[in-house]
Amino acid sequence: MAGQILDGKKISADILSELRSRIAALPRPPALAVVLVGENPASQIYVRNKIKACQDLGIRSIEVRPSGDISTEALIRELTPLANDRTIDGILVQMPLPPQIDTERVTSYVIDPSRDVDGFSPASLGLLVANKPGPRACTPAGVMEILKRYQIPIAGKHAVIVGRSDIVGKPMALMLLHENATVTICHSRTPDLAAHCRQADILVAAIGRPAFLNELHIKPGAGVIDVGMNRLIDANTVQALFAFDPARLAAFAKNGSVLVGDVDPRAMQELSSFYTPVPGGVGPLTIAMLMSNTVQLAEQHA
Ligand code: NAP
Repeated sequence: MAGQILDGKKISADILSELRSRIAALPRPPALAVVLVGENPASQIYVRNKIKACQDLGIRSIEVRPSGDISTEALIRELTPLANDRTIDGILVQMPLPPQIDTERVTSYVIDPSRDVDGFSPASLGLLVANKPGPRACTPAGVMEILKRYQIPIAGKHAVIVGRSDIVGKPMALMLLHENATVTICHSRTPDLAAHCRQADILVAAIGRPAFLNELHIKPGAGVIDVGMNRLIDANTVQALFAFDPARLAAFAKNGSVLVGDVDPRAMQELSSFYTPVPGGVGPLTIAMLMSNTVQLAEQHA
């Protein structure tokens, strides 16, 4: 069986294009403040992409770049004017914050729930638990959007999620539960992970370990959502995982690295009924949902 590829790039482009008319109908352009503390190279790339997406859509972005050694108190002082500025619709603090920062104080007490564009604050999480409207964490919200737009049935299915982070695994479980899936959450202390995974009609991997789930974890015909994004630089591993994909091997030869998800791409392709590729699956949806959340908050503020 060759699983159907769920094309995250296409769904993302559709979502972004649908936002344009909503933005045009607003009395002023939506505004998103993006806070990047320090010089984390991966975070710099994510922030650059988010700001570019804002520019493409006509969303005003305000970039704030405190230095990496800032204290929690000083960061809160720097963010307070943004939090009080009623012309700013969403505030995004790029994670992870440096270790000296009390992340919970920043996300809980500085960002008003009506500006919590990432849906990370306890207030937003409470709304999610209660299945009430509110900003939702962008990555799991993007997964739900992919499933919805490909008309994949969720009600009555057994969804197994590997990973229980606050930003992916836990909200993912709640979103699937609210769509009437039967949900199992697995994590690093789950014994016999493969047995749990093989129960899944929909298997979601959000672990952060390259190609960690394989043919032992996928029931033939299951759908696989691979949230993981891991950079591989070892030529032997790349050769083994992507022997079936000459284009990927050529990209590795040119760039010296390739992205792989948390699921072995060979197993996904051979055993699943559908799957999200890495890259080009869940990744593009995260930014689209961030833009969608920003527009939604701007509509509420209009
Ligand atoms: P995280 O906070 O590190 O959480 C990883 C989760 O995986 C934890 O719950 C951990 O369990 C579990 N885990 C680790 N090793 C395991 C094992 N051997 N067996 C079973 N479970 C295990 O990571 P995250 O922020 O959720 O991100 C997960 C992945 O998604 C990463 O690859 C990240 O890059 C990617 N990601 C992608 C996007 C996107 O836009 N595509 C967005 C966010 C994240 P414990 O809780 O027991 O430690």
